[in-house]
Amino acid sequence: VSGKQHAIQEQRKLLPIAQGRDALIHEIRENDVTVLIGETGSGKTTQIPQYLLESGLAGKGMIAVTQPRRVAATSLANRVAEEKNTEVGKLVGYSVRFDETSSEATRIKYVTDGMLVRELLSDPILSRYSVIIVDEAHERTLRTDILMANLKAIQQKRNKPTDRKGKGPAAALSPLKIVIMSATLDAEKFSSFYNKAKILYVKGRQHPVTIYHTATSQADYVDSALRTFFQIHTDRPPGDVLIFLPGQEDIEGLSSSIQLYANRLPQATPGVLLCPLYAALPPGQQTKIFSPTPKGMRKCILATNIAETSITIPGVKYVIDTGKCKEKRYIARSVGSGFDTLLTRDITKSSAMQRAGRAGREGPGFCFRLYTEDAFKNMPLSAEPEIRRCTLTASLLQLKCLGQDLEELEFMDKPDEENILSALAALYILGALDDKKALTKNGRDMAFLPLEPYLARVVLAARELGCVREILDIVSVLSSNSKLFFDSADQRDAALEARTKFRHSSGDHFTILNVVRSFDEIAKTETNAGKKDWCHKTYLNFRCLTEAVAIRTQLKEVCERMKIDWTASCGDNEQPVLRSLVRGLVQNAAFLQPDGSYKQVMGPSIVKIHPGSVLCDKKIPAIIYDELVYTTNIYARGVSAVPRSFIAEVPVLNHRKA
Ligand code: ADP
Ligand code: MG
Repeated sequence: VSGKQHAIQEQRKLLPIAQGRDALIHEIRENDVTVLIGETGSGKTTQIPQYLLESGLAGKGMIAVTQPRRVAATSLANRVAEEKNTEVGKLVGYSVRFDETSSEATRIKYVTDGMLVRELLSDPILSRYSVIIVDEAHERTLRTDILMANLKAIQQKRNKPTDRKGKGPAAALSPLKIVIMSATLDAEKFSSFYNKAKILYVKGRQHPVTIYHTATSQADYVDSALRTFFQIHTDRPPGDVLIFLPGQEDIEGLSSSIQLYANRLPQATPGVLLCPLYAALPPGQQTKIFSPTPKGMRKCILATNIAETSITIPGVKYVIDTGKCKEKRYIARSVGSGFDTLLTRDITKSSAMQRAGRAGREGPGFCFRLYTEDAFKNMPLSAEPEIRRCTLTASLLQLKCLGQDLEELEFMDKPDEENILSALAALYILGALDDKKALTKNGRDMAFLPLEPYLARVVLAARELGCVREILDIVSVLSSNSKLFFDSADQRDAALEARTKFRHSSGDHFTILNVVRSFDEIAKTETNAGKKDWCHKTYLNFRCLTEAVAIRTQLKEVCERMKIDWTASCGDNEQPVLRSLVRGLVQNAAFLQPDGSYKQVMGPSIVKIHPGSVLCDKKIPAIIYDELVYTTNIYARGVSAVPRSFIAEVPVLNHRKA
């Protein structure tokens, strides 16, 4: 046993949850459903699956542990594999969209809640699993809620087979255990949803945290965080700093400001080790967060709310809480044309307390809230579940494939009537449902593709029109977690100049296609460093392109399974590509008005073309776009010029006229 392994095993034994090991195993063995509440860092996510496996409770089946975010799923799988002294993909694996690392030998699998919902399509009773641990249940993501509703029904089927005489498959099924885990004290609601399930509490180790509020509200939270960080860094004893920010852009912005100022500090001041942590962070960079802070350095972790409960970082003594987070919210515009937008908003009381708690894991800590005490007092207690505020289109499609309906399924909280109607309309427009709300062949194929329904529709149209190769290049970029073009206002001119050679008169989708083709060319001869350099010079996001290439590989595999010929290309003919895009994006079509703005075809909004688009300043009779950006104006981003006739030929528009 190596020194490192020894240290890891010692650390495991010291976790708060370790003392309760046998009692926990006993309770989980005795109860079909258990709700486990424990403070962040107590060892729930990493230890419970190992305990259950060691105790034989999982039988021959697998243990699934769900996570709302992919970074959490991959990083936890890596950690637990390390604790088991093996590499990820063997005994311990993970499965997230576009990335699966598991094998025949895998017994513990960390999965995103979305992946497990997707798995229902091919295995409606999740027969491969004997234990399903729904982790971070308090986050109440849409997928978690759908999963919890399904698990309830599955457990009834598997644990209380009506037909014990061996007729039908039920009698042969192994029972299913459900463990719901949460870091916040909202156990009652989960317990009553599962017929008064047993609630277990794990006491965490929490040292006192001194909390400071600002005297006045802060106009610029990034600037305020910058100043607070340097006050801590120059005045306070050693200890790492964790800064909570709403999203990747702020993290990158603040990161470079800190870097800049840190270089100007007097020689004697400790160095700053910057560690960003957000959903789209490549796995390789995550390990930095957990490695011990080098002597004479101070680690500064800049994180989204992923560090609130999902990932515990050792060594943190100071927390800076901007009081902001990003929230997906559905923007209803008219029936059938609502989309989710990420909005920055104030956090909830429950988040604020979780964030402060991160400072007191290993000793007394300090939390600097960049908002007033009154602001804290006025925060809502906890967030609204996603099912009440997000687009239901993709989920409704998946449920339809399972023969279920949003109206009929038993949820913890019921979705909004209007929101359901809008999802039905969207699926009807995409041709996934017929006018009796029944699933079509196209709808089933769309659900099979691991893409947003509208992009799945684009791929199916491309199959008919013979341009799957081109469409996969474009759709892979659109499905990436990050943006391809860096086009912040201050570097927009330089960026547009550097990217002149990619510009395409049809618009941004063909521009993307040109970029991907050039990147593929470069990739043939260049190393990673060479590719990065090329991206840097052309103001393109290397991360987005690498991710897109990986997504494209996955999509090709799915296409092969669906017998879609991904090699089919339309050559120089642009029409099939535009036509395919229109088929999926028809809800995002707009016509030019005399004053140069555009009016939505299926909604009431007046939009302008985003300044970062190659079609900005052009007058195009008809456009389609990827998304809307709400600032002082409503901007359409990711725009292509299309013949009006392509929009008019979409069947649903004909229905509407009739
Ligand atoms: P919980 O789920 O109760 O919040 P976890 O099981 O995630 O707790 O974490 C237990 C402990 O394991 C934490 O103290 C954390 O610091 C440590 N840990 C988790 N992941 C890693 C990792 N990748 N590297 C090092 N330590 C880790
Ligand atoms: Mg956890």
